Amino acid sequence: MEKPKICVVGACNLDLISYVPRLPALGETLHGTRFHMGFGGKGANQAVMAAKLGGDVTMITKLGQDVFGENTLKNFQAWGVKTTHVHFTDQAFSGVAPIAVDPDGHNSIIIVTGANDLLTEDELEAARADIAAAQIMVCQLEIPMDINLKALQIAREEGVKTIFNPAPARPQLPEELYQLSDIFCPNETETELLTGMPVGTLEEAEAAARVLLERGAGTVILTLGERGSLLVTKETRELVPVDKVKAIDTTGAGDAFVGSLAYFLAQGKPLMEAMKRANRIAAISVQASGTQTSFPEAKNLSSELL
Ligand code: ATP
Repeated sequence: MEKPKICVVGACNLDLISYVPRLPALGETLHGTRFHMGFGGKGANQAVMAAKLGGDVTMITKLGQDVFGENTLKNFQAWGVKTTHVHFTDQAFSGVAPIAVDPDGHNSIIIVTGANDLLTEDELEAARADIAAAQIMVCQLEIPMDINLKALQIAREEGVKTIFNPAPARPQLPEELYQLSDIFCPNETETELLTGMPVGTLEEAEAAARVLLERGAGTVILTLGERGSLLVTKETRELVPVDKVKAIDTTGAGDAFVGSLAYFLAQGKPLMEAMKRANRIAAISVQASGTQTSFPEAKNLSSELL
């Protein structure tokens, strides 16, 4: 059977995590106790998630000609993500996120988007045939807005269904972006910031989702953490609850959900069924630490879940 095809347009960031006895003061040099490097960027995470489940995934992104870029490319190759449209530039370093974490888990984070900002419309045009061949295309907010809009326009022209994950949170988005999103998939914080409305109860969450629908999104799926995910269309509202689990590290849960939702929809599963399965995959990811490292692989999952 042919693998489901997913195209991800988005960012790669290398998390450079230093564990420190306390966060450094202005001008201070501090010795850390441990260092960890983790592959990240919402686009990269979602692509790796879909590939780990068995998707035929094409990543469209830009990296710097540096050690971070080389390692990111190798990571994609290791998971079988297609890298024909992974571009390199000597005009900026790869996206990085130097992070300091103290023993209480407080952190300070610097994100330098770097090469992610340099993906061009011509490079998206060059990927048109691969976008057209996919069943689902996924975008997020870590690359420039005009590039997202161009990617969504290409998908619309080619009749490819889109999932837009408006992360990280920002207060405003162009109307065109909603209109070009077949499935608009924010988390609680993103929904609150975009609508100025609370999402504490299901009624509140539904009302906020309806505002996003009115702005032009085809279907809205809110991820609600341990409450699961909420589907809101013009006609319906359905909560898809998630099993109760012991969460260890929820970092990347949203990416696990979006990447697996893309996989199951590309496979042809109905929306509610795809959400149910994406919930279960994301719930597995919160039971292990790390981001991509916490995403389960098809070979370790029961076949009824795939
Ligand atoms: P993050 O920013 O931590 O990556 P997020 O805020 O974008 O995550 P959430 O809405 O918290 O996304 O979680 C995404 C999905 O992950 C949820 O819809 C749910 O399926 C699953 N999930 C998250 N937290 C839990 C939990 N504590 N128990 C079970 N499932 C969870």
